Amino acid sequence: MSHVFPRHTKSDLPTAVGGDGCYLIDANGKRYFDGSGGAAVSCLGHSDAAVIKAVQEQVEKLAFAHTGFMTSEPAEALADLLISKAPGTLDRVYFVSGGSEATEAAIKLARQYHLERGEPQRRHLIARRQSYHGNTLGALAAGGNAWRRQQFDPLLIGVSHIAPCYEYVDRSDGESSFDYGQRVANELEAEILRLGPDTVMAFMAEPVVGATLGAVPAVEGYFKRIREICDTYGVLLILDEVMCGMGRTGHLFACDADGVAPDILCIAKGLGAGYQPIGAMLCSSAIYDAIAQGTGFFQHGHTYLGHPVATAAGLAVVNQMLERDLVSRVAEKGTQLQAALMERFAQHPNVGDIRGRGLFRGLELVQDRDSKAPFDPAHGLAARIKRAALEAGLICYPMSGTRDGRMGDHILLAPPFILSETQIEEICDKLAIAIEEGLAAI
Ligand code: PMP
Repeated sequence: MSHVFPRHTKSDLPTAVGGDGCYLIDANGKRYFDGSGGAAVSCLGHSDAAVIKAVQEQVEKLAFAHTGFMTSEPAEALADLLISKAPGTLDRVYFVSGGSEATEAAIKLARQYHLERGEPQRRHLIARRQSYHGNTLGALAAGGNAWRRQQFDPLLIGVSHIAPCYEYVDRSDGESSFDYGQRVANELEAEILRLGPDTVMAFMAEPVVGATLGAVPAVEGYFKRIREICDTYGVLLILDEVMCGMGRTGHLFACDADGVAPDILCIAKGLGAGYQPIGAMLCSSAIYDAIAQGTGFFQHGHTYLGHPVATAAGLAVVNQMLERDLVSRVAEKGTQLQAALMERFAQHPNVGDIRGRGLFRGLELVQDRDSKAPFDPAHGLAARIKRAALEAGLICYPMSGTRDGRMGDHILLAPPFILSETQIEEICDKLAIAIEEGLAAI
């Protein structure tokens, strides 16, 4: 009997014993194509020699130094590299161990920034429905995923939630994409005015919604309008690129495609590519300076901030992306993946939408393509497809989002950047089997 506390106590999962390129191998020798990189993590596959070497060398040289006493070479080098590529005035990097730690830190930094500037009344956070920012209490409160929140609602800080930018379901007939984006972006302004403009500290959003909706980018112009509104009212813009960042969308930072720069940017998954747990929060020079010239101390922290082995892994990952021009490869392979998915599933009566950017793609499953009605959540369709896919040797990330309180089933694909054209076909073949098996059971 296993003594590991699994995510799903009723499921019997295979034991992973090895990784080879885009494949995971279980204890019986069965190979699984990692079509979602776990949860958009394994962007370099499972056996990247350069990253493995960097981790081995760092652990031998220096395994740990607490950032309360010392900085380290890999943390400094990775911060320099990230800032040299980061948009806008992002200027400082705060290294943590994962996505939730990055978004928690962002919320606290936003609050402290306003305090340092003598605006203690700024305490409201605004985020979006159908979003996910992590599972710790602050991050969970920011997220608008009703299913993940429901048991913990009484414990969560109050956060306002406005509409997401979810064109497939919410754009009205006859409304252009651009007008739709402006309309939903303007909900931010309405909410700021409702709360009182000088009481709002920040707005948080994912440039491409991942774990709740399955790769939904905003329409053109949406984030530019959001940026404008934040600037008008002195509200900080926090972009959560934990899932969609680090090359995943065909841009090193997802917001590059939207032409906006945030005040705070959160990254994680692809930064360590699974070789080490690492996340980061990047902030603008204005935020850093407010603290440096004020109390001089960010009232936050964890034991493993800036971990030398994790930052060495991150440094090797980003260097690999740059040296091998993998971000351009993502754009090219992403176009091929979208075309292959369209060819295979665009006419499927239960596939309502195929979307995304780069190698971050989502399929939305619907009962009826005209009404876009989702399946009854009692069927657990996405979970059935995940199980059937595993059986067929494919890892894909299933999710049940909420749509006006109703559940909808989505499949997220986020394969390693190194995948080949033949492997795109392998994903489609195995996914087709899994979708049919999932549907057959309901
Ligand atoms: N933000 C986003 C956008 C995410 O997708 C996730 C994880 N799916 C998180 C935050 C939380 O990251 P972690 O699980 O590493 O804490």
